[in-house]
Amino acid sequence: MSLFPDELPALDCHAHIAPDVTDAQIGALKGAVVLAVTRTPAETAHALRRRDTTLVWGTGVHPAVPAALKAFDLRQFAATLKKTCLIGEIGLDRRGSLDRQRSVLAQILDAARNEPVILSLHSSGRTGPLMDLLTSHPHPGIILHWFLGSPDELKQAIDLGAYFSVNAAMPDYALAALPLHRLLPETDFPASRRATGAIRPGVVDLLEQRLAQLHDSTPQLIRRRFWQNLRELTTRTQVLDRLPEAIADCALEA
Ligand SMILES: [Zn+2]
Repeated sequence: MSLFPDELPALDCHAHIAPDVTDAQIGALKGAVVLAVTRTPAETAHALRRRDTTLVWGTGVHPAVPAALKAFDLRQFAATLKKTCLIGEIGLDRRGSLDRQRSVLAQILDAARNEPVILSLHSSGRTGPLMDLLTSHPHPGIILHWFLGSPDELKQAIDLGAYFSVNAAMPDYALAALPLHRLLPETDFPASRRATGAIRPGVVDLLEQRLAQLHDSTPQLIRRRFWQNLRELTTRTQVLDRLPEAIADCALEA
């Protein structure tokens, strides 16, 4: 029997959930499917011990967390790719040493090369340097999270085949500039709770309504589009088979 009998569940492709979340707390997500990113190798180690039917746990090194950059160890990181198909949160951030962030990210992209993974990338304040790095280290599984690059950088990202996870805190012009077939939903919970209106991970109704208005569509069709986009992305990266079964079924049925 399908876990999601009636309609497609809400999808959230970038949220922060504590790895000690309880079954009751996951139950309160009302069936939402969440790509749960982590910030540090320690958090990753904890998260990857879990098995959840509606959550995919990531392996992350957040660029704005100095302790994460310091604790990064390439061999340890590469070993986590046997346990998860999601790399995130990684990227570049305006705070801290660009050289250090770039060195860690280049090592991660090298380790991810030819691996069946998708990657959730942060780029706040350093979208240009990130585009340069992705141009020299391309990957078919790139998801740019909350991307606010210039029009030229956006074109570069689209040409590189990137997907974009977007949230309800992003202004209309930023949402409208992105191609619908490359969009995925996110909350970035709890970072932007007030701006996104997401009181918990997986609350993407407002985003779906706004995109429906912008694209003269319906929230239901926007949600289906998100799942179709996830199917496309996870098929081309050979990640589909690595997802929890109920999540893969949703992508296939969308
Ligand atoms: Zn985040």
